[in-house]
Amino acid sequence: MKITRKDFLRLSGLGLLALAGKKAVRAFAEAAAPSASPQTIKRWGMVIDLQKCRQKDGCTDCVKACNLAHNIPQIPDRAHEVKWIWNQSFESVFPQVQTDYTQQAYAGHPIPLLCNHCANPPCVRVCPTQATFKRENDGIVMMDFHRCIGCRYCMAACPYGSRSFNWQDPRPAIPSINSDFPTRTKGVVEKCNFCEERLARGLRPACVEACPEKAMVFGDLSNPETEPRKLLRARFALQREPELGTSPSVYYLI
Ligand code: SF4
Repeated sequence: MKITRKDFLRLSGLGLLALAGKKAVRAFAEAAAPSASPQTIKRWGMVIDLQKCRQKDGCTDCVKACNLAHNIPQIPDRAHEVKWIWNQSFESVFPQVQTDYTQQAYAGHPIPLLCNHCANPPCVRVCPTQATFKRENDGIVMMDFHRCIGCRYCMAACPYGSRSFNWQDPRPAIPSINSDFPTRTKGVVEKCNFCEERLARGLRPACVEACPEKAMVFGDLSNPETEPRKLLRARFALQREPELGTSPSVYYLI
């Protein structure tokens, strides 16, 4: 698609809007929602049962499986790290649900975070080259690494910190290269792709497969008979900052 100077300036304005903070992201999402919710045939989503997740005991099987499957470089410098799925404490992710009881149950409990594959993704709307886009047929928010110009508007627009920028050539920092998945280059943004390459082969995401406690359940949220939908009917679930209007497709059962 050809981007005109006028288009670029308009989209740049959206990037600046995202940079203005979460209030701006929310206003932007609300304003854009009616035209930015195309009908999807499926809506892939994930439900993570925090009562089953054993990350408090040091389990990082989901993270390791993702790193291996997607050639994620291991960069110790937090300012330069690349992450598709990572751990963060419950209280920092869900500060709004801190009560005496949740503090007792989940205080210090690291929980797995990843791209939410939002139904209304602000990252998609700010990208000036359509390097990130939402698939119409299943709702996955994808990245085309070759189209990414490294402007990082998507990182500013994502309220969940789900995107990483390659500040350096990532390839020397990949412990073992998986030849079935592309490596990226310096100057490119990346994030979780819900293992679309595995879904295309009829497999579940690598993190879901790797979880020893079966705490991660993946499926089509648009189908009321799928396992995630049954869990969401039966249990209380949280989404990350749903008030922003992004409609995350990752849920946490508490
Ligand atoms: Fe985009 Fe962030 Fe939502 Fe993922 S979590 S779809 S990167 S806004």
